[in-house]
Amino acid sequence: MSKIEDFKTPYSPTWCPGCGNYGIWAAFKNAFIKLGLTSQDILMVYGIGCHGHMVNYMKTYGFEGLHGRAIPVAVGAKIANHDMNVLAIAGDGDQLSEGGNHFVHACRSNYDICSIIHDNQIYGLTVGQSSPTSQKKSKSKSSPYGVVEEPINPLALSIISGATFVARSFSGDLEHLTEMIVEGIRHKGFSFIDIFQPCVVSNPLNTYSWYSERIYKLDGNHDVKDKEKALKRAMEGPDKLPLGIFYKINKPSFEEQIGLLEKKPLAEQPINKISVERLLKDFS
Ligand code: SF4
Repeated sequence: MSKIEDFKTPYSPTWCPGCGNYGIWAAFKNAFIKLGLTSQDILMVYGIGCHGHMVNYMKTYGFEGLHGRAIPVAVGAKIANHDMNVLAIAGDGDQLSEGGNHFVHACRSNYDICSIIHDNQIYGLTVGQSSPTSQKKSKSKSSPYGVVEEPINPLALSIISGATFVARSFSGDLEHLTEMIVEGIRHKGFSFIDIFQPCVVSNPLNTYSWYSERIYKLDGNHDVKDKEKALKRAMEGPDKLPLGIFYKINKPSFEEQIGLLEKKPLAEQPINKISVERLLKDFS
């Protein structure tokens, strides 16, 4: 049974005091312990952003990639070693702007990875430019007269793109967030969790109190298998913002449909039988 200390590194976070990243960091560790995972059972792939500093503070396998490319790196690692629990972690700007195409195609491919968005509705690391989830008319350094575009709704986008598990939580509710991460990692197939996270420095609009006044939890009457209802709940807002599991269905994951991976992970299969000449011939 692992303990919080097992995930500690020698480094302390440099996030701003009050940043939502602290809650998410704690919830990850709680979730790993609940799932009985050790630091060697997990690969966390990060994009670029304040969240990405977590690679230094979390003792698991880790990789901090290029802007918007957490998902393709995570997918490659999962296919090479599908026994590993793989998480792709990104910010809202990172995942939905630079990495928007990867997100959509990962949803429809149903790779067995858990995708997490630290959704603070701003580019925090670069001190405050509007992101794809910034509210229309909100002002920032990059949009001093207000955002013109409609925001992307990450939940609705993932549901219509084919994700088989879609949930939302809040960095200020550790218990709920832990539960969502546990369920997301347990899910076989592409799971997506959007996490509301205040950026206390660069986003003066979406604060802890702004979220607290609007969030509420989906109750037991919500049918997680009903796509139409899931979409309807996902589209609620900005005055009322539900949290919980919106959508969850069982479908074969990408890895389960690849014959080569039936016996054992690619990383454990011998490569000495591969004929480069034959490969070149096959693709010529
Ligand atoms: Fe957190 Fe915002 Fe500070 Fe980044 S800039 S560490 S997101 S509060």
